[in-house]
Amino acid sequence: MMTPLQALQKYFGYNTFRHEQEAIVNRVLSGGDVMALMPTGGGKSLCYQLPAVLLDGLTIVISPLIALMKDQVDSLNVAGIPAAFLNSSQNPAEQSHIIAQLNSNHIKLLYLAPERLFGTGNKLVVFLRALPVPVAQIAIDEAHCISHWGHDFRPEYLMLAELKRHFPNIPVIALTATADKLTQKDILEKLNLKDPAVYISSFNRANITYRVNAKQNSFSQLLTFLENKKDESGIIYCLSRKSVDTLAQDLKAQGYLAEPYHAGLDGALKARNQEAFLRDDVKIMVATIAFGMGINKSNVRYVVHMDLPKNIEGYYQETGRAGRDGLSSSALLFYSPGDAIKLKGFVSIDGDPEQTRVMLSKLDDMSRYCQLPTCRRKFLLNYFDEQAPDHCGSCDVCLSEITKFDGTLIAQKALSAVTRLNGRFGSGYVIDVLRGSKSEKIRQEHKELKTFGVGSDISKADWQRYLRELVALNYLKFSDGEYPVLQLTDKSNAVLKGLQKVDLIATQTIEERETEELPF
Ligand code: ADP
Ligand code: ZN
Repeated sequence: MMTPLQALQKYFGYNTFRHEQEAIVNRVLSGGDVMALMPTGGGKSLCYQLPAVLLDGLTIVISPLIALMKDQVDSLNVAGIPAAFLNSSQNPAEQSHIIAQLNSNHIKLLYLAPERLFGTGNKLVVFLRALPVPVAQIAIDEAHCISHWGHDFRPEYLMLAELKRHFPNIPVIALTATADKLTQKDILEKLNLKDPAVYISSFNRANITYRVNAKQNSFSQLLTFLENKKDESGIIYCLSRKSVDTLAQDLKAQGYLAEPYHAGLDGALKARNQEAFLRDDVKIMVATIAFGMGINKSNVRYVVHMDLPKNIEGYYQETGRAGRDGLSSSALLFYSPGDAIKLKGFVSIDGDPEQTRVMLSKLDDMSRYCQLPTCRRKFLLNYFDEQAPDHCGSCDVCLSEITKFDGTLIAQKALSAVTRLNGRFGSGYVIDVLRGSKSEKIRQEHKELKTFGVGSDISKADWQRYLRELVALNYLKFSDGEYPVLQLTDKSNAVLKGLQKVDLIATQTIEERETEELPF
């Protein structure tokens, strides 16, 4: 048998494995279950395609999007790997042809949607279980679709809970680019993976620069951003279909090769626009988030979000479509607090309360990201439970020359107010105490505190910024729950004792940064 490395060179034309590919491939070849988390563009497909080539029997690939199966199958066939898909777009003759090929063990990979595998009384499952050469591997792409906690739940994925019952001893590999802890746990449980090995690759996309601009005159800011990018490919995401159409028109009027893409367009037009974009005939795809999953275009130089995404997972996946070729690329997002309020309205309409709570908290994380005084990459990586240095050097926060000043005294005042209030009050109350508010709301005993009024020289708005920054720097934290209160962290003590100097951003700079257009 060929070694994995030989197969990598022979079938895929690559000389080295990326990320955890080699370990994952070996695990599958030894018959073990795997869950692999890799960023978009990280090279997930190879993790099951390579074992598929080396193993004797068939690899079943479960994928959510019928529309993308053809592309994947075509490119495998071009690489000399016999692959096929079965879906509703095929006529009976085509389907029988594939069934015959499966029976004679002439196909290495079979792509299916979950509902196809388990539909019509498990007909296909029964057939696949009876193949003369048994199924050798089952790959589940976009595995987060099985979880309510993910951002792209698909009910038909729940059918996959039955997989292990039908194929008890066959290695299953679940792949996703986006799963927080809760979703990861859900994937493992719902799929009943046996003693799974979990591989999490670094999510850092070092060649992408992250920027967030205030959403004011966003169209003219966009034109400035695009000025020297006429020949480059990019994706611009908008929240609504209507704004997609309008923006595509407006960009065309400015001489850009832009086309729209959203679920409201007819199938033929969508396919035409997508193909033109892949061929570089169209440079800019203006789209809703309906566009992009499974699109493998390596030279996308920028991804812009005109509106606030609903969660970090989605945002990271969308920005991850830039720079798959490793060349330097940018992600730009236009933020307005109004967007967050609007999205909150959508989220709260119906659905089960627990799910609503999770979605609202994801939305809060997204807003927090937009208002960061600290490195955006660090925030993103920490969000995915990955350590990162304090400064990345390639996000707007790290790049802009933010003026910092010695804010130790301010920090000490804030921290000691939180201490004296026993960590039981929200930021509004803490600020009132710091500023010596005469409000009735402030309890008499708090008016007698030593810290009462020590921060009266600083405006309410500035205190809000400082507190937010102290939270971002982890000198303070918000409690969980409906009414978050400010509390000390294990880093607070050093500040209170004067052992730790705290640099804060001069508030003036933040104001400038909020109104100024960034130099691109
Ligand atoms: P994902 O599914 O994780 O988003 P893909 O599987 O589509 O990513 O892979 C992204 C790109 O990286 C593809 O063009 C693929 O051919 C390429 N790729 C995958 N593995 C390697 C490797 N070991 N060396 C070089 N390129 C690779
Ligand atoms: Zn940074």
